[in-house]
Amino acid sequence: MRTIGHWVGGKAVEGASGRHGAVFNPATGEQQAEVAFAGTAEVDDVVNAAASAFESWSQSSLSTRAKILFGFRELVNAHVDELAGIVSDEHGKVLSDARGEVQRGLEVIEFACGIPQLLKGEFSDQVSTDVDVFSYRQPLGVACGITPFNFPAMVPMWMYPIAIACGNTFVLKPSERDPSASFLVAKLWAEAGLPDGVFNVVNGDKEAVDALLDHPGVASVSFVGSTPIARYVHSRAGATGKRVQALGGAKNHAVVLPDADIDFASDHVAAAAFGSAGERCMAVSAAVTVGKGANVLVDAVIEKAARIKVGAGRDPGSDMGPVITREAKERIVGYIDRSEQAGAKVALDGRGLVVKGYEKGFFVGPTVVDEVAPTMEVYRDEIFGPVLSVVRVQTPDEAIELINANPYGNGTAIFTSSGEAARRFHRGVKVGMIGVNVPIPVPMAYYSFGGWKDSLFGERRVHGPEGVDFYTRAKVVTERWPHPRAETGASYQFPTTR
Ligand code: NAD
Repeated sequence: MRTIGHWVGGKAVEGASGRHGAVFNPATGEQQAEVAFAGTAEVDDVVNAAASAFESWSQSSLSTRAKILFGFRELVNAHVDELAGIVSDEHGKVLSDARGEVQRGLEVIEFACGIPQLLKGEFSDQVSTDVDVFSYRQPLGVACGITPFNFPAMVPMWMYPIAIACGNTFVLKPSERDPSASFLVAKLWAEAGLPDGVFNVVNGDKEAVDALLDHPGVASVSFVGSTPIARYVHSRAGATGKRVQALGGAKNHAVVLPDADIDFASDHVAAAAFGSAGERCMAVSAAVTVGKGANVLVDAVIEKAARIKVGAGRDPGSDMGPVITREAKERIVGYIDRSEQAGAKVALDGRGLVVKGYEKGFFVGPTVVDEVAPTMEVYRDEIFGPVLSVVRVQTPDEAIELINANPYGNGTAIFTSSGEAARRFHRGVKVGMIGVNVPIPVPMAYYSFGGWKDSLFGERRVHGPEGVDFYTRAKVVTERWPHPRAETGASYQFPTTR
């Protein structure tokens, strides 16, 4: 059995705690590796390695950092297929989807290559006679990232390229379900010339996470995962004075107005609901039909969803892979069962799907649950699987009210041919990322990513300008170089300009 340890101070180290977890191949249902679970002592070692590397890395020049980032960008680009293969084998998503995730991560690396421009400060000449003021930003120290299973390559890439480019060192605690992509990334950083200890990987579960949250040597925590854990991480790390951004779960609505192009909208709603088996924080999990024409849309979505080819991620014919674990499959099927008991109609049923040659795989087929009421569990909870709930409302304002009453506020989309309706919608919804005829509106790397309400705890979103802001803190210097003939003598009044 392959074993996966940690990456500390520029080299691979084996687990020492004696605790470990199983990494499955979700398509076959078989265990493919064993991942070490770090204990408190190992977390201490990795934080110490990162803290000691910080001393010199934080003093490295912007051009040194930019050169290493450019080199790293080239290496990741050359390994897109290898990374995508690793992601597909451990997560289950199809290869084209895995390549897409690496591509979106690469865009953050490319953004971070511009760090000399991003870290430019401000300067005000002669704010008072012979006095100038300037501000600049410095790194925080050891930054850590705790990431979810669903984007094992991309979500960590939202964090470490920017943290490292800003002069921090980084400790990544990837998901224990699919930890191998981070190991290849660590090797690519080393090949790009990143000094030892600047990028580290520690594997583990709650014990490792808690040790990072409590460690006095950790300056900041970037978390992405489910809402209950995001809330917990935010409060526990915040209590020890760390800077925290904690992105949580989602329930994303796609609103389809009667004036939308139904063929276009149904294509995109089906793709956004069932791509990556619905295991995306920006997946559409609620379709909201407005007014008449609902049946036409629902029929079109069902017809398209029924044609989705479900299979192993490595099979080039597959559109959609399995879900992450057996437990996830059971949980998702349980939601579908209970939605029926609550009075909803399972209009397309993915329960009981068996993929030939992969009979033990964790597969659930695309499922459409129609006639869902907002009070039902299938609507209220984040299911994180290939289940689309259909809720019918009568007016665009009712759709906005429905979205705003939901505790999550990650993403949403509207399908319409009316600019006026679209504008009213994006201005009215309490959601962080909005698509107009775009079902999965993930912002580009040079904008920041993050939701509202229970989808984000903390003040700053990830990547883009807020990412740079998160991983640095500002200084303002007020400076005077007195002229030899200048008046001398201090004044005892509070300093004012003259
Ligand atoms: P998760 O919350 O179970 O795990 C995320 C991380 O937290 C993992 O590294 C895990 O080891 C750790 N963790 C789990 N339980 C913990 C505990 N009790 N104490 C301390 N640490 C713990 O999430 P997941 O199942 O890996 O990922 C899916 C979730 O992530 C979904 O809710 C999805 O919406 C969310 N997500 C959100 C975004 C976003 O941008 N908002 C992006 C991707 C995923």
